[in-house]
Amino acid sequence: MLKIKIIILIIFQVSLIAKINTIVSISPQLIFLKSIGGDKINISLMVKPGNSPHTYSPKPSQMKDIAKANIYFAIGVEFEDIWLKKFKNQNHKMKVVDLSNGIQKVAMASHHHHNDKHSEKEKHIKTDPHIWTNPMNVKIVAKNIYQALIDIDIQNKDFYKKNLNKFLQEITDLDKKIKKILSKTVPNSRFMVFHPAWGYFAKQYNLKQFPVEIEGKSPKPKDLAYIIREAKEENIKAIFTQPEFSDKSANIIAKELNIKVIKTSPLSPNWSKNLIRLAKAISEQ
Ligand code: ZN
Repeated sequence: MLKIKIIILIIFQVSLIAKINTIVSISPQLIFLKSIGGDKINISLMVKPGNSPHTYSPKPSQMKDIAKANIYFAIGVEFEDIWLKKFKNQNHKMKVVDLSNGIQKVAMASHHHHNDKHSEKEKHIKTDPHIWTNPMNVKIVAKNIYQALIDIDIQNKDFYKKNLNKFLQEITDLDKKIKKILSKTVPNSRFMVFHPAWGYFAKQYNLKQFPVEIEGKSPKPKDLAYIIREAKEENIKAIFTQPEFSDKSANIIAKELNIKVIKTSPLSPNWSKNLIRLAKAISEQ
């Protein structure tokens, strides 16, 4: 009897050890990882909802997760610039995979001002880290996840491959659905956002962001007046804000223009539903 118990215990432990411990930076990655890795992986999330991946600092308990991790799936968000090195020091054996590998990045949109100092500011242009707002980029992300998982766990290649193909098909369907929703929207329509996180989405669907934030900060009263004037000229009907940032200036603009404030975050864990929701809101502008 004891022998059987021990055998069961060993089998149980082996199956626990067999799971790959992974860490991701942001919520949408949970869906991407789960879609490919299924029950073969554990996933731990670094930037919990409501926090900004531009400025995040991990908690001590999260450093413990790092110590147990097999793979860290980075996606190119800002806090990784500082923290990936520290994570690697904490766990030398942990593999770091950059899921944005192979994705063509574009510059982060910022509000353009018609003044002479503008050329001075252009020197500080950063690349836009919000790659996952374009479903086509997520196809590349999915393939990168697949590759990393078979590198570490070749025995389950067929399982991962089947999941990858299913997820790629879902992404194709999502892209078609968004295009259909936006089919009556005039090409190059502008949608007003506080934080310009939707650049890749805008590019994919022939839209343009109209950002309120200036170089990562809320606009000053003088800038605000300028933005309001321009929004009036363009007949903007809504402003999109996200819960990770203060929407004080967005509310001022909305009140001034008598338009809606719509809260939507690129960090939503409901990745595909969220993109559909944004497309619908833009199509109804
Ligand atoms: Zn952002």
